[in-house]
Amino acid sequence: MPLSLPVFSYSSAVRIGVLGGTFDPIHLGHLIVAEMAREAERLDRVLFVPAGRPWHRGRTPHASAEDRLAMVEAAIAGNPAFAASRVDLDRDGPTYTVDTLEALGARFPDATLVFLLGQDALAQLDTWREPARIAELCEIVALARPGAPPIDLTAIRTYIPDAALRVRVLETPLIGISATMIRDRIQRGLSIRYLTPDAVVTYIARRGLYRR
Ligand code: ATP
Repeated sequence: MPLSLPVFSYSSAVRIGVLGGTFDPIHLGHLIVAEMAREAERLDRVLFVPAGRPWHRGRTPHASAEDRLAMVEAAIAGNPAFAASRVDLDRDGPTYTVDTLEALGARFPDATLVFLLGQDALAQLDTWREPARIAELCEIVALARPGAPPIDLTAIRTYIPDAALRVRVLETPLIGISATMIRDRIQRGLSIRYLTPDAVVTYIARRGLYRR
């Protein structure tokens, strides 16, 4: 399975964080929580996995897959623990997290996968395809996000029986940045500086992304 950084080899003790998303575009919220998760969860790598075609209704990305991947690569350049994965871009059909994790599990059979997701996304996990299987394939770490509902482990236990063992919440600083906010600011002609790394700001301007 191609990774967009050189392939690295893993021992059984290796822990790989997986941050899936639309990354339309990637922003500092993603980077800050990924770095904090890397540290707190003792992750050897964090893989950023842009969705090819998100399965959620109404989530058709604004930028192309290749632009979203290029922005991820620009944003994570210089952090040797971060890598981008094409796994969801090289597969046809809608992107389901369970398929992403199956593919990464096959690619890195000896590693422990730690799926990172925002608290907002965890609250909707019951609507995802095969949540119980997702929890078998990885550990799940939820990242605090402003405005998201509190995490209800009792509800999660109804679709992930051993949720108490498989799901953890990581207290990260609340970062009120979203990709929606960035797209909206661009459309209104407002600055996006410091909301995403300079390299991404430059890429968006050069490609004329997210303008009306
Ligand atoms: P959009 O505004 O387009 O919905 P987004 O900012 O939520 O996008 P995604 O690419 O959908 O970005 O997010 C990927 C993952 O990162 C999701 O699990 C999401 O919950 C999480 N995430 C995004 N922004 C933050 C943030 N500021 N704090 C914590 N988690 C975040």
